[in-house]
Amino acid sequence: MKGPSAQGMQNYASHCLGLKSYLNNPGDGRRQPEIPARDLVWALLISRILRVSSFHHLEWLVHSPARPALGVGRTFGDDALAYFTERLDPDVTRQALAAALQQAKRNKAFENSPRIGLALDGTGAGYTHKSPCSLCHPVQDSQGAVCGHLHHLVMITVVGTGLTLPLDVEPYGPGDSEYAAGQRLLGRAVAQLGPRFADYVVVDGAFATAPFLHEADRLGIPVVARLKDNLPELHRAVEARFANRPPDLVIQDGKDRVEIWDADDFDPWETLQWPSVRVLRYRQHKPNGQVYEADWLTNFPQRKLNSLGLYRIAKSRWEIENQGFNDGKNRYGMEHLCHHEPNSMVLNWLLILLALVIERLYRLRYLHRGEHGVRTAMELKSFLWIRLWLPGGLDSS
Ligand SMILES: [Zn+2]
Repeated sequence: MKGPSAQGMQNYASHCLGLKSYLNNPGDGRRQPEIPARDLVWALLISRILRVSSFHHLEWLVHSPARPALGVGRTFGDDALAYFTERLDPDVTRQALAAALQQAKRNKAFENSPRIGLALDGTGAGYTHKSPCSLCHPVQDSQGAVCGHLHHLVMITVVGTGLTLPLDVEPYGPGDSEYAAGQRLLGRAVAQLGPRFADYVVVDGAFATAPFLHEADRLGIPVVARLKDNLPELHRAVEARFANRPPDLVIQDGKDRVEIWDADDFDPWETLQWPSVRVLRYRQHKPNGQVYEADWLTNFPQRKLNSLGLYRIAKSRWEIENQGFNDGKNRYGMEHLCHHEPNSMVLNWLLILLALVIERLYRLRYLHRGEHGVRTAMELKSFLWIRLWLPGGLDSS
């Protein structure tokens, strides 16, 4: 039997990505479990790849005749998934994600990239009208009354390699902050991936705070951050310097003409312990006349990274929006609240990230070796669904 299948993906995850031991022992915290953890964790992963985004829908799937072809050994209900994810240790799944990314690097999944980056960004997910949990942030309507609750998280993703792979999430409750969650997340990522895995970290303006930038310094990773008007002093100095002078460089990026300004001797703001700040501005002219302009600050010295290299890094930040949050939410159910309990929510997000890593590496780096071209995620998903209902065999060639 040829072609992609749910069980083929299970074999790929076990053996090519080195996840066999994780899939058998995913950090189960239940006492005297009846349903093996391996059936539950694999069901959660493969269901995300199949774009099944609720526990209820997954319960239906494992009670259908397709269950053996899913690689799931027995049936269970949605209550078992809630009970399991409430008690699953998030650190074990985090280690599995880091190990899969390290294995991908060893398998040369990023070999055509000059640099490997990490991008961090925050978002909200799991809006609910139910009574709040410890991670719930109140959402107010236009009159100022609380109309529901939302959960906030920061995600970290490998970017700049042509293959966007998510690594980890850190939730933060009310009273905590996005950049503090980002500091914890970056520290954990560098500890788990090793200090030489990534060459830089790229972030939005919300993380351009002295504590976050100092944490990146302490970890030994250069940082590129969007400069917005939340840093008014530096923002004004940059405007005064760049506004009335011709660009230092003009390049063609696809169909766009891009003007670039770059200077490395701006004064740091009061709390930032950097000797100086380098700022790059790009102004991108689209063929239809639209113009996009953005400023970025960094501690990358010009002798180590030229203006074009810094421009490319700044652009790699959009990957976390497009292939991280947009894909995670619109295709893999990241926005949907399967079970309103803090540990269960975090595990759900982490398992979505692991499903994305398995799906992308399988589709873009493994299947790609075959005789056919690269499949889209939608084509793979459709093919897997057809395969589930035709267990006798279906040749993809
Ligand atoms: Zn909540």
